[in-house]
Amino acid sequence: MDILTPEKEIIEVIKENGGDSFKSCYQCGRCDAVCPWNRVRDFSMRKLIRQATFGLTEIDHEEMWRCSTCKTCVDNCPRGVDQITAGVALRKLGAEYDVYPGNVAPVQTVVANLTSEGNSIGGEREKRAEWAKGLPVKTFSEGMEVLYFTGCYLSYDPRMREVAAATAAILNKAGVDFGILGSRESCCGESIRKTGNEELFRRLAKDNIKAFIDHGVKKVVVSSPHCYHSFKNEYPEFMVNFDVIFISQYINELVSAGRLELKNGYARKITYHDPCYLGRHNDIYDEPRALLQQVPGLELSEMADSREKSLCCGGGGGRIWMETPKEDRFSDLRVRQAVAVGAEVLVTSCPYCITNFTDSSLDLDEGSLEIKDLTEIILAAL
Ligand code: SF4
Ligand code: SF4
Repeated sequence: MDILTPEKEIIEVIKENGGDSFKSCYQCGRCDAVCPWNRVRDFSMRKLIRQATFGLTEIDHEEMWRCSTCKTCVDNCPRGVDQITAGVALRKLGAEYDVYPGNVAPVQTVVANLTSEGNSIGGEREKRAEWAKGLPVKTFSEGMEVLYFTGCYLSYDPRMREVAAATAAILNKAGVDFGILGSRESCCGESIRKTGNEELFRRLAKDNIKAFIDHGVKKVVVSSPHCYHSFKNEYPEFMVNFDVIFISQYINELVSAGRLELKNGYARKITYHDPCYLGRHNDIYDEPRALLQQVPGLELSEMADSREKSLCCGGGGGRIWMETPKEDRFSDLRVRQAVAVGAEVLVTSCPYCITNFTDSSLDLDEGSLEIKDLTEIILAAL
């Protein structure tokens, strides 16, 4: 049975949450034409915006949970409508009524994990630093050059722990005096905020801000574009400003300062995927490419949709936690695009992208295509 919320409430919730730019929508349909969903199945953000305008949204349908917040439609709307903010405002109703239909249901478990352990994976908080066991990685203390904010996936996910270890090895090779917060680190909160759970986002953000202040943190290096986006663009809402730098930008600086030398070759054909939250959301396109191009022997090709047109992996907006049937996965299309340009390695810089592309490459029997984080290529080249 459909759960219809009172129309006034929907309109009010959208308005209160800065989503009222949807009123300038003139239903041109450009958003649907550029949306990656329409490469795999029918989905209409235009329709959702129209329904929201009249307060007709059914919160027990999966439609309002499809958007992966890739920002392609926002960048292409002729009327400046912020479809992401309007969509998240609708999800706030779902979060408020605890309605997570069908394939969205796993979000409920993620909410429980974030509430009890401070991470989306469900690992124990006390084991957050376990990835660094046996590695020369210290606990952060005031006066250190940088805090390495590891993030949930790199702390707990077995594949992504390899990326955390590669990052630590690079920082150590450069002689960077860095540390981690271990159990004092909590999820950045970016993705749960996009599921409409503002309260939980605020709690996580405050926990991290307190930990940063308690430890005297000034500069933060991050491996996830979602942590980067949140610290850079959302945490200032709490009247704090930390110096945040993405790992590929930081490595670039270390190379330019002569603290790292890319002396080994990496003679492979690679292609680079721009994560939505690094590219479209934060305009970081050049540094990762500049870094890769300095690696001797490496051959870089661009896929059909690259840079501003990068094809979303499907993991943003909390979708990394939801079930996506095989036939609906944009990551399958992206893996095929990588194979089409003759890449041996698909390189990116985001734990969600790596997770989705790895699944797709195995499902599609494209096992010969390796999926790597940029830090793993750099470490091999040092
Ligand atoms: S592109 Fe903008 S104006 Fe056109 S239908 Fe979508 S939201 Fe409305
Ligand atoms: S943000 Fe991306 S996934 Fe969401 S409606 Fe726009 S184009 Fe589609």
